Amino acid sequence: MDFSSELIAEGVKEFSKLPGIGKRSALRLVLHLLKENPDYTNSLADNLKKMREQIKLCKLCYNYTDTEICTICTSHKRDKSVLCVVVDTRDIMAIENTAQYRGIYHVLGGVISPVDGIGPQDLKINELLARIPNSEITEVILALSPTMEGDTTAFYLSKKLKELGIKTSTIARGIPVGGELEYADELTLGRSILNRTALV
Ligand SMILES: [Zn+2]
Repeated sequence: MDFSSELIAEGVKEFSKLPGIGKRSALRLVLHLLKENPDYTNSLADNLKKMREQIKLCKLCYNYTDTEICTICTSHKRDKSVLCVVVDTRDIMAIENTAQYRGIYHVLGGVISPVDGIGPQDLKINELLARIPNSEITEVILALSPTMEGDTTAFYLSKKLKELGIKTSTIARGIPVGGELEYADELTLGRSILNRTALV
């Protein structure tokens, strides 16, 4: 693409680094911003900066939060005896949308994948195990996608959790193999949490 402006070329380059944005979409976004009121671009830039600087990970569950401890962990309405282990924040959003789960969460940040060189130490597994003693947690639900990596992670965790005397269950297989929780419809996901199966 030939640009009349170096700055437009630079803008297109930056936008096309975003997932799902090709060069053409990037150019459309840049041209759109140029037509907008400068107040909008200023507030967009401020917002992005603030988002990146101020959002942190909850010290307990590693979900994104504006405060030290997230609103789910501090809520008195949540059942602190049940903890659901997920891969990332999007899974929490998907489960929250089902309105079927009132427990707390723990975000692993990934799954064990020897092929990609990701071991238990690269995930928030030690943090999860350290959270359990001296807590009200009695049951852990593993809400990991039924992929080979998800299964490996679930197996590893269930073994460790058993040593701590914790009841472990997995969400029912209503979700297509290799499917991400994020894409499962709310009804199926909600039902699979309610019909979770115990791991022995
Ligand atoms: Zn939290």
